[in-house]
Amino acid sequence: MRTPIAAGNWKMHGTRAETASLLGAMVGGLDSARKAEVIVFPTFVHIGDALDAVGDSGIAVGAQNVSDQPKGAFTGEVSAPMLADMGVTHTLVGHSERRALFGESDEAVAAKFIAASKAGLVPVLCVGESLDERESGATEAVVKRQLEAVVSAAGAGALNNAIVAYEPVWAIGTGKTATPEQAQAVHAFIRGLLAEHDANMAGSLRILYGGSVKGSNAAELFGMDDVDGGLVGGASLNADDFLKICAAAG
Ligand code: PEP
Repeated sequence: MRTPIAAGNWKMHGTRAETASLLGAMVGGLDSARKAEVIVFPTFVHIGDALDAVGDSGIAVGAQNVSDQPKGAFTGEVSAPMLADMGVTHTLVGHSERRALFGESDEAVAAKFIAASKAGLVPVLCVGESLDERESGATEAVVKRQLEAVVSAAGAGALNNAIVAYEPVWAIGTGKTATPEQAQAVHAFIRGLLAEHDANMAGSLRILYGGSVKGSNAAELFGMDDVDGGLVGGASLNADDFLKICAAAG
């Protein structure tokens, strides 16, 4: 039985007051009998406020990015041990915006994944194809390359304490959502690929769908066999919408 997850990637949005008010509404509105894990990913500068706001509600706080180095002369970077020391439990690695806009290669993503794992953080490894790649039939090859880079650097066992997010780039922030069938097909492919390395790990791995998830489409996406919840951008900035998504996750 895989515990579902509703995760909110706030990207570069928010103020201290908005962090407090959004999380105040989340803490007040979440069903105490929920099964789903709820994780929010504010900017680095809002992590302290987010941790104060979630208190003992059970909402976890993650980072959107992490250095591959534990400490040193790396101006502007934030390390995994620093995040763990703050009380952060998760970090995104390899979000498509980091890959596309900040030039993060598969190897760089794998190094961040390893650094996060070493510090006891749960890496949320983001993978997904662009529109061109989908249209040229390369979806599985791209997702396989992104996953295998991490498996070969970190070992398949490292996925036991990780989460994978399948986020087709063409669906992120565009309002275009993958159909439940399109999402399911890639999630099943990911699970099958990882099962070739370690069937137990693959069977228990949570694989989230991301790409224009909203309160209105979450239930049908999360209802697919291999979709274990969602990684949500825009809709996670609205408490009512994100609460609906959390309820759809379980
Ligand atoms: C994301 O940034 O991970 C994401 C899925 O964004 P959106 O929900 O806005 O498409």
